[in-house]
Amino acid sequence: MHCASDRDRPTLIWLQGVTCNGNTHSFLNLPYLPQLLAKYDLLYHPLLPASSTLSEVVQCKRPCDVLVFEGAYDPLMKRHEVLLSELLDYYGMRAGHIIGVGSCASFGGMFKASAPQRNSGLIFDESESSGPLLALKNKVINLSGCPVHPEWLGYTLSMIADNKEIKVDTLHRPLELYSHLVHHGCTRNEYFEWKVDAKAFGLKEGCLFYLQGCRAPMTHASCNRILWNDVSSKTRSGTPCFGCTEPDFPRNDLFHTKTNMSIPEDVPLGVPKRSYLTITGIAKAFHIERLEGKLIDDKTAD
Ligand code: SF4
Repeated sequence: MHCASDRDRPTLIWLQGVTCNGNTHSFLNLPYLPQLLAKYDLLYHPLLPASSTLSEVVQCKRPCDVLVFEGAYDPLMKRHEVLLSELLDYYGMRAGHIIGVGSCASFGGMFKASAPQRNSGLIFDESESSGPLLALKNKVINLSGCPVHPEWLGYTLSMIADNKEIKVDTLHRPLELYSHLVHHGCTRNEYFEWKVDAKAFGLKEGCLFYLQGCRAPMTHASCNRILWNDVSSKTRSGTPCFGCTEPDFPRNDLFHTKTNMSIPEDVPLGVPKRSYLTITGIAKAFHIERLEGKLIDDKTAD
C-alpha cells in the first residue's frame, strides 16, 4: 500500500461512527502530534483545527488520501443527514489508506455489544469478515484497542506519510504493533513463572492472571513494550489487561479468571493446557521467599 496523492502532503479526513470519542482523546496525548500533523493536510477532524467543516465533508467534495474512521459502523446512522454508508463508500473508494481506529471501528467493540444485530467494524463483525468496506479490505488497517494507543496511530500515520509499507496480520492489524502479547514486557513475569498471585488490584507484587482475570497472555498488543504516556501500562499499575485489542472484547466478568475445577479456562496462547498444568504444579511446589514478600519494605533501616 502506498499513498496515491501527488500533492505535497496527503489529505486526511477523520470521520466518526458510534463512538465515545476515546480514540480522539487518546490521539491528543501523542507527544509529537504537531509534527505528525504537519505531514498531512488535515481536512476534517471533530476536535482538531482543520480546513473543512463536517457539513462540507459530508457533501463529498473533498479529496481524501487517508480516511480515518473512529467508532462502530451503524447502517442507520447519519452525519449531517447523510448516511454513514454513503460517506464510507465515497471516501473509502478515493482513499489510498483507510484506518479503523479503536476496537469499535475494528470489530464492533463496545458499541457492537450495545446493538449486536446492527453495529460492526469496517471489515469485521467481531472476528467474522463483514462490514461496509469489505470490498476495500486491502486498504484497511485496523488499530484495535479501547482506546487505541496514541503511539500506534502515530506509527501508522508516519509510515503512510513516508510511503512505507505496513504489513498486517489476519485481522488487518500492523504486525509491528500486534505481534507480541501484552504479557511480553510485563514487569510481573517472574511472578507468573513462579505462580505467585496478586491478592488485590494496585499492588506492586504478584501476577494478575489467576485471581484478577488478566488476559495479557492471550492478547496481541504492545502495551508493555510501548508504554502509555511513556510511563506505564495496566499491568504495571496493578490492573489486569482486559484483552481490549481482540475481536471478542468486551467480555463479561473482566476482572475474573474463569476456572473449571481450579484450572483456568484459557491458558497462554499456544501453550497446551497439559503443559501449562505440569509447569504450574512444579512452580507451585517451590516457595521463593523473595517473591512472597513486599517489594519495597516500609520499614526503614536502623
Ligand atoms: S500480570 Fe498479566 S501480563 Fe503481567 S505477568 Fe501476570 S499474566 Fe502476564
